[in-house]
Amino acid sequence: MSRGFYIGRFQPYHNGHQAVLERIACSSDEIVIGVGSAQFSHTVANPFTAGERVLMLTRSLEDLGCPFYVIPIEDVQRNALWVAHVRSMTPPFDTIYSSNPLVMQLFSEAGMDVLSPDMYERHTHSGTEIRRRMLDGEPWEHLVPTAVVDVINEICGVERLQRIAGSD
Ligand code: ATP
Ligand code: MG
Repeated sequence: MSRGFYIGRFQPYHNGHQAVLERIACSSDEIVIGVGSAQFSHTVANPFTAGERVLMLTRSLEDLGCPFYVIPIEDVQRNALWVAHVRSMTPPFDTIYSSNPLVMQLFSEAGMDVLSPDMYERHTHSGTEIRRRMLDGEPWEHLVPTAVVDVINEICGVERLQRIAGSD
């Protein structure tokens, strides 16, 4: 049984993440997905709660064709302990898929296999760019799975982001 691990903040989950997960699905029996910085929500950089992000992922991956687990993971303020923290919260996994330099470094130092998936249209498909579009009232819906559009509309996510970005 081979299990792959993928982690992100998913603020929000977008088509770039989806493209990577669809690729990983073909090379693992199961996938463990960590929702990082789980304790944050209602900020401009982290507008959505861990639970809302779990919904975005779970609904978007319904047809993945590979069993997956979505697990919120809070930050620890000590990078040296982070891998042990992640592993204490997740089903055992053998391969890490990440392009994040710190994530790659920490798992490599722990002696684990790290693979770096190719980026999918990174210029437009980034959480930062999608949040900017939401704030500026520009189209963002085409950059995320339709299930994510539904979740964000359901929670009035764009309105939330625009309100918390306002000044008093
Ligand atoms: P932000 O701009 O808020 O950091 P992000 O798009 O980088 O958002 P994260 O949740 O930080 O999304 O990323 C999770 C993982 O997905 C990271 O390893 C990141 O490198 C990867 N990733 C992000 N965008 C893409 C993309 N377009 N194609 C492939 N992988 C991506
Ligand atoms: Mg990022």
